[in-house]
Amino acid sequence: MKPAKFDYLNPDNIDQVLDCLAEYNDDARIMAGGLSFMAMINFRLIQPKVVIDISRLTELAFIRVKGGFVEIGAATTQADLKAWPDIDQKLPLVALALRHVGHFQTRSRGTVCGSICHAEPSSELPLSLATLGGEVILRSKKGERVLKASEFQIGMLANARHPDEMVYAVRFPVAKKGQGFAFNEIAERHGDFAIVAVAAVAEGNDVHIGVGGIADRPTVRKFGALTNEKLSEALNAFAWELRGDTDIHATAQYRRQLVRHLGQKTITEALANV
Ligand SMILES: Cc1cc2nc3c(=O)[nH]c(=O)nc-3n(C[C@H](O)[C@H](O)[C@H](O)COP(=O)(O)OP(=O)(O)OC[C@H]3O[C@@H](n4cnc5c(N)ncnc54)[C@H](O)[C@@H]3O)c2cc1C
Repeated sequence: MKPAKFDYLNPDNIDQVLDCLAEYNDDARIMAGGLSFMAMINFRLIQPKVVIDISRLTELAFIRVKGGFVEIGAATTQADLKAWPDIDQKLPLVALALRHVGHFQTRSRGTVCGSICHAEPSSELPLSLATLGGEVILRSKKGERVLKASEFQIGMLANARHPDEMVYAVRFPVAKKGQGFAFNEIAERHGDFAIVAVAAVAEGNDVHIGVGGIADRPTVRKFGALTNEKLSEALNAFAWELRGDTDIHATAQYRRQLVRHLGQKTITEALANV
């Protein structure tokens, strides 16, 4: 299929983006890398009157460390972040997750913020942002809002952005000394969206784990120091709570089993990496 007719805006600066969003609201739509956007517009799942292409806005292409966070601008590609020299030291969980995000070709156009805006429940970057307790910075002509990852992603392919707002950047907390990280997923082929993905951050005896691919958004849970038996019980209860469905990729039963198995493995690895 072909998209419905639209006007194309190739802005020179953020002000033009915000002016356009203020004028057109839901009738305007931002395109970043275009990887998910092009599929949606071609299938006419979205029919914006104006497409705002932010991929060439250099003022949005940044990775900077600020106030204990790594801030990543809306035009920064996943490949740019993967190649950032400080990623292993400052964002080790994201470094692990990025290996599972699509392929070299998709990462070289797909943006970090675009993936988080798209809010696909199996996506690795929204899962990492939620597990690390990261934030999303939104801008409109009225000013700036900052939402926690858990406030931003509100359902399958749904986020809390207002129609006149753009995501300006996302920010991940910088890894601290004494933290350990791990990330595992099962997908049909490497580079596919995860059937189930698990991210973990360990600190002392506590571990936060985030699970993607089951509920309609990443779900994060804190586990304290538990014996192996208690941990298995806790993971089993968590797996049932997530209420996975059966679809063409996997049964609900298989998804629950992955939460138990990958949960145990990822927690063990995160604790070993402290
Ligand atoms: C073959 C293939 C394999 C893939 N595999 C994976 C995978 O394994 N894991 C994974 O997570 N993803 C995967 N993807 C998706 C890919 O990672 C995309 O990067 C991602 O879905 C969207 O990023 P994008 O920059 O292309 O955003 P776009 O497609 O341009 O936009 C996506 C959505 O976000 C909105 N948006 C984008 N930027 C902003 C902004 N700054 N402010 C407000 N709204 C915005 C758009 O309007 C649109 O609704 C795959 C894609 C392909 C084609």
